[in-house]
Amino acid sequence: MSTRSKYVLLFSFCLLVSVGQSQKPKPKRAKNIILMIGDGMGTAQIYAGLTANKGKLHLERCTYSGFHKNQSADHYITDSAAGATAFACGQKTYNGAIGVDANHQPIASILEIAERNGLATGMVVTCSSTHATPASFIAHQASRSLDEDIALDFMKTDIDVFIGGGRKFFEKRKDGKNLIDSLRAKNYQIANSIAEVQKVKTGKLAAFLAEEQQAKFSEGRGDELVKSTEVALQLLQQNKKGMFMLIEGSQIDWGGHANDTQYIMDEMVDFDNTIGKVLDFAAKDGNTLVIITADHETGGFSLVDGDMKTGKVEGKFTTTHHTGVMIPVFAFGPGAEQFSGIYDNTAIFDKMMQSFQFKVK
Ligand code: MG
Ligand code: ZN
Repeated sequence: MSTRSKYVLLFSFCLLVSVGQSQKPKPKRAKNIILMIGDGMGTAQIYAGLTANKGKLHLERCTYSGFHKNQSADHYITDSAAGATAFACGQKTYNGAIGVDANHQPIASILEIAERNGLATGMVVTCSSTHATPASFIAHQASRSLDEDIALDFMKTDIDVFIGGGRKFFEKRKDGKNLIDSLRAKNYQIANSIAEVQKVKTGKLAAFLAEEQQAKFSEGRGDELVKSTEVALQLLQQNKKGMFMLIEGSQIDWGGHANDTQYIMDEMVDFDNTIGKVLDFAAKDGNTLVIITADHETGGFSLVDGDMKTGKVEGKFTTTHHTGVMIPVFAFGPGAEQFSGIYDNTAIFDKMMQSFQFKVK
């Protein structure tokens, strides 16, 4: 072989190696991951919120976006339980499943894995903390309707902060147990209003902002999600190892089920204001990966007219149920580039595991 062809061979080899490497770059490690779910938030819901906000959203500050395929193990149209279990545990399961696989076997969630690795963990939602989306990150139950069993599963974890509704599932139970007393015994501070939440400066916090479900934004809940998120960030960042937090704008979905455009817009803008606070934190921190997505779309919502100046839209719905369309994913921070492209909803779990550099499930 001539010297020249040797060089050509060597050059080709180097090219192959570098191409091979560039195909699978390792994401930068994230100290903190904040997963934000707008339940039922498809692209039309986002655009309705953007219009209500006169043409802009905090969401636009995300640097990468992609789409996920959300079909569940047994239905073309997923529900929030199977959708959240896919993100939380990395497996497709049946509709209604809370942190269990298709054979009803418990599967560890990213929140539990983070906890085992010494990270701080938290959940902030605008529904009962036992509702399908948050429940899938902390409980293992065959059905989403088992609110009291889901509440009992909170006792088996060391979650540091949870803020939502659902007081009655902890306090007024068929088995007579008072889990709020049990939480106090486990050193949780208990808050029953947003004012009480805001008084907490350190330590563990369990907050119950409603007996069952919180009110709509427009009917008295106001900006509790923004305020709760600020407190949760303040508490969780005190753990030097990092944090995993779930934040849910739970009621965008309920606006879709109700075919109520104004309900969707109010909840969407509230969720986006929360996104703004989280992105401010992440930008300042520099080690926080923020992922923003939905479990599915609700209402078959579309926009047939609108005005960026007045912030008004004319919405149309094709169903009062969920739909099967692809769902956008937005990301910001170290490892955000992993979220471009099209992938299964379960891949969001895998990407979070890679970002935390956690080894096994
Ligand atoms: Mg939900
Ligand atoms: Zn729904």
